[in-house]
Amino acid sequence: MSVIDEVKQKLDIVEVVSQYVPLTKAGRNFKARCPFHEERTPSFFVFPERQSWHCFGACGTGGDVFSFVMKQQGMDFGEALRLLAQQAGVTVPSRLERDTRKDERERLYQVNEAAAKFFHDQLLHSPAATRARDYLSGRAFTADTVTAFQLGYSPDSYDALKSHLQERGFTEKELVDAGLLVETDDGRTRDRFRNRLTFPIHDARGHTTGFGARVLDDSLPKYTNSPQTLVFDKSGTLYAIDLATSAIRKQDQVIIVEGYMDTITAHQNGFNNVVASMGTAITERQVTTLKRLTRNIALALDADAAGEEAMLRCVDYENILDAEIQVIILTGGKDPDDVIRQDAQKWQELVKSAVPVVDFTFSTKTARLDMTTARDQSRAVHELAPIIARMKDAVRRDHYIRRLETLTKTRYNVIEGIVKEFMVPSKQSKPKREPTSRTAQLLLSNPLEEYCLRLLLHHPELISMSEGLLPEYFQDSQNREIFITWQQVKDLPSLKDNLDPALWEQVESLVSVDVIENQIERKLDNVILRLREQYLRDQKEERATAFAAVAAEEGAGADLAKLDNEDINENTQLQQVFEQEGRSNRSRKGWT
Ligand SMILES: [Zn+2]
Repeated sequence: MSVIDEVKQKLDIVEVVSQYVPLTKAGRNFKARCPFHEERTPSFFVFPERQSWHCFGACGTGGDVFSFVMKQQGMDFGEALRLLAQQAGVTVPSRLERDTRKDERERLYQVNEAAAKFFHDQLLHSPAATRARDYLSGRAFTADTVTAFQLGYSPDSYDALKSHLQERGFTEKELVDAGLLVETDDGRTRDRFRNRLTFPIHDARGHTTGFGARVLDDSLPKYTNSPQTLVFDKSGTLYAIDLATSAIRKQDQVIIVEGYMDTITAHQNGFNNVVASMGTAITERQVTTLKRLTRNIALALDADAAGEEAMLRCVDYENILDAEIQVIILTGGKDPDDVIRQDAQKWQELVKSAVPVVDFTFSTKTARLDMTTARDQSRAVHELAPIIARMKDAVRRDHYIRRLETLTKTRYNVIEGIVKEFMVPSKQSKPKREPTSRTAQLLLSNPLEEYCLRLLLHHPELISMSEGLLPEYFQDSQNREIFITWQQVKDLPSLKDNLDPALWEQVESLVSVDVIENQIERKLDNVILRLREQYLRDQKEERATAFAAVAAEEGAGADLAKLDNEDINENTQLQQVFEQEGRSNRSRKGWT
């Protein structure tokens, strides 16, 4: 459960509101003179069952406990959450604290960018960079490519970069923090990259996060890269992701290669959906990043080097992706760079004939074994069973057990038994809390609101269609906050920057579930209509209970007549919603 949900569960809105406003009982609910506008007779109500509040007077607005405190105290969501968490005795984990290092991070991007520019200028103009330039022309890289990838040359000097950047106002500490300088034992610093070809590395948003560097002679290691810094983490990095994003989306496929050269050659030949992993094995973080762009991942990695552990992990990634990972099979020890430079057409064919990684593992494993011997049959079963056991999908498991049955001529149930031995016993499924009422559901999640946000987050272009969608339609403050911020920023990274970290979990859970990509606009139309209906119905219900309580107490008066009028108004609006729904149901069938 998220911190936000925990706070919601532990606090009672009546107690919280009554700290600020003297509430009096009105039937099952509570009323008060509205704290947000001047009035003589109460039109502010708190509804314990729904854990909501509403002002039926001049404000005409309402919400949950968070929105009340935000409005009452003039706080933003994060401040309200922290205040309420304290009252509820819930600790907000420190990882959810505001990013105080944002400025520091920003500064590191700037240092890296300045360094990239320096190296690039050196490559283009320095007489010392002749060898680097020759190397690149030997690779047949065009000037456009060199510019697009901002390739560079780091001079053979201990302080060329350092003095250049210090002149530009960067401190030695910032250069060390960015990994551009190394500290020596005597406490001095010197340039990390010397006499190397440099490859600036960017994140998906184009920030320069670090560098890869290649030697220009035969010395080892051939490649080095920036150390782990505040902005650079190899395991989450994909080289050229900034240049590949739109092609990956458009082609609905990403190809992962191993090296910088493979990537650059691919892009120069028009294969722009290619990125490089920063090592041989891909990581979960890389897969998670890519999943937002496509489910179709193909690996063009040296399969022998990838090893068994990597293959096992691939199955886990397939579970995350809910799709198969493909392998592009390269023969004769060639890498994508070689293949593409020799014959781009051939590369395309190889991509087309990619095979599922599990199939590939099955054939490489069994190719080396003699399937007529009991010993090798047993080896095949025991080596492949752990892979099958990792699969979440029972149908897939069945498929591969049957394949193994054919390959090894071993009986199905024998293989199945061995697979079961490798299966991690599924965690005792937590007893699901049965929502006792709509209130309980409202407290925890609101599927309609979440569905609407998913559509909007997956399709930023739809925000222009959401004019009829009011923030009030979102009962849940989390969703309301996300919606309001999304209207302003329209891209995920900025959304995260602008939201309190406590809301990231909700954003992540929203984007992690895909939407089915058809008739998106119709779906949005429909869900907005539904939200409006839900909002109006809730209003009507709240108004009715408020009305009943006041009527019982005071008899009909002027204010009640006003409430009554509102009710008529709401009925008219609901009527409009139904008519609109009727129309859209007649013209388009159903809503999914
Ligand atoms: Zn009010």
